[in-house]
Amino acid sequence: MSQQTTGSVYRVKSPAELGFDPDQLRDKYRRERDKRVREDGPTQYREIGAQFAHFVDDPYVEPGFTREPLNDEVEVIVIGGGFGGLLAGARLREAGVKSIRIIEKGGDFGGTWYWNRYPGAACDIESYIYLPLLEEMNFVPKEKYTHAPEILEYCSKIGQKYDLYADACFQTDVTAMEWDEEESKWIVTTNRGDRMKARFVAMSNGPLNKPKLPAVEGIEKYKGHTFHTSRWDYNYTGGDSNGNLNKLGDKRVAIIGTGATAVQCVWHVGSAAKQLFVFQRTPSSVDVRANRPTDPEWVKSLQPGWQKRRIDNFNTLLAGGEQDEDLVGDGWTHIFRNLAGMTGNIKGSGLTPSEMAKLTELADFEKMQEVRGRAESIVKDKATAEALKPYYRQFCKRPTFDDKYLNTYNLPGVTLVDTQGKGVERMTEKGVVANGVEYEVDCVIFATGFEVGTNYTQRSGYDIIGRNGIRLADKWSDGLSTYHGFYTHGFPNCFFMGFTQTGFPPNFTHMLNEQATHVSYVVQQARERKLATVEVTQEAEDGWVNTMRSKARLGARFYKECTPGYYNNEGKSDDPTKGFLAGSYGGGADEFFNILENWRKDGGMKGIETS
Ligand code: NDP
Repeated sequence: MSQQTTGSVYRVKSPAELGFDPDQLRDKYRRERDKRVREDGPTQYREIGAQFAHFVDDPYVEPGFTREPLNDEVEVIVIGGGFGGLLAGARLREAGVKSIRIIEKGGDFGGTWYWNRYPGAACDIESYIYLPLLEEMNFVPKEKYTHAPEILEYCSKIGQKYDLYADACFQTDVTAMEWDEEESKWIVTTNRGDRMKARFVAMSNGPLNKPKLPAVEGIEKYKGHTFHTSRWDYNYTGGDSNGNLNKLGDKRVAIIGTGATAVQCVWHVGSAAKQLFVFQRTPSSVDVRANRPTDPEWVKSLQPGWQKRRIDNFNTLLAGGEQDEDLVGDGWTHIFRNLAGMTGNIKGSGLTPSEMAKLTELADFEKMQEVRGRAESIVKDKATAEALKPYYRQFCKRPTFDDKYLNTYNLPGVTLVDTQGKGVERMTEKGVVANGVEYEVDCVIFATGFEVGTNYTQRSGYDIIGRNGIRLADKWSDGLSTYHGFYTHGFPNCFFMGFTQTGFPPNFTHMLNEQATHVSYVVQQARERKLATVEVTQEAEDGWVNTMRSKARLGARFYKECTPGYYNNEGKSDDPTKGFLAGSYGGGADEFFNILENWRKDGGMKGIETS
């Protein structure tokens, strides 16, 4: 049926044409959500510590590394050697900064790709837009969705190209940062006994850097082998990031969790282990991956500026904006292609916001029907296929893309233990209990994700002491408070990167690149104008916090209806100052990047006090 609105004509398909009834589906989504909402919300998880402290040891370095403590000075310290730190380093180099030191916990650059080497690890975002600096590096990845080893190697190449190895400190944990008022410098101390001074510090600690465990009863009683996916134990499983887990042939294995990580590694465990039990609380949306090698002819056809155009095209489409074509054309942008099919163009110009919201919901329903249909067509056992169907809107949880995961459930010896939204009940000496049944296993692999929404300094592992002894942990005890996500009053010359009240697109490295560009601009301005300090005014910070709160309410409405997860503070998204939403600008990444660009173009360093 066609509907005429003030400015445009659009078509709403009937339930018969759609193949489902939107009202019934909406109701089903609500029931599935309600089944999963828990009183304890985000506190259902426990920190990794005590008996599980070894879960975060670095398995990729030789034990016993020592070095002399450093007692010196550099111009900029960057904390974190993942893509954020590397991009900050690269952009600062481009701005002419010579003295840069990256401090990194791991034994090399790579961040999330240094730690996460589980079998099947690969990027879910097209690698031509995910790997940053491709034109600067004159590099094109081997595949559309490249695998983790190539990404890790690429991180090292960035480090070499921008000469970031020279002064880097690896295997080093920052323990504290303190502002020295007299010298207008930061003093950074580490677990290696270092005491370094720096004019500026930029922090890119990684938003998902601290693994977490479910606080289920008896977890410490289990006597078999255990590890978390972020430190895969190849000594136990055999094989490597490509799979071939040849030591699992006589093992009964449990994997707890079915998020983006599990979706990539389950096939490899299922095809190697004697038995695999996958404990599911909420099924992931598992869409087509269709990976393919990079076409050399396509590479030859690329014109200068191609990567930025592609990144912007993807970002604009995901933000609901208009583009002539969909350059990436994958499962991430599919909803927006569905939408374009209904409105005649992607933005649907002339539609009122409520008409647009209605059509977007329909496009989402269609997309998720397709995802559910995929589970049904691939998984042979009817009950298992049914349990694997996700009933929520596609962006309620991190969508996943994989062509092997669902097939795993057709393998002999693989069982999906669907817990009907309840999760595993407890653990015993011998195994895992779910739905009242004890599953005895030799090994439990926790694919249970990472801390999100806990206190910033808890996740970073160090506190920051600013002017007049004020501690960041105290200042942010009731939530984040920044200007544009970068700076907080009382902490001069200190920049945050990551989910600190910033706009972020699904292509996370895009955000890091925008942030790195911005930080390097401010540092460059400080150098050119010979400023000792740059510090946000309290007024500008308060203004941004208010903007964040009012914009978060837009997202809060969407997430309130979502199934629980870390995106919506485990179903407790009523308060937009808490959890993941608090860190993300509700107006969308496009709008946020424009704010930054206009601020730079203005040139007046608005909101910043300088001395
Ligand atoms: P997630 O937090 O996404 O998943 C954790 C899983 O553990 C969920 O399925 C959760 O269920 C489940 N779980 C938690 N507690 C229990 C319990 N008591 N019983 C049973 N199940 C439980 O972590 P991941 O490591 O999978 O992914 C984290 C993030 O890393 C992703 O969101 C993504 O951003 C990123 N990632 C990116 C990749 C890429 O390609 N670029 C690849 C992999 C990860 P429930 O859903 O019900 O909470």
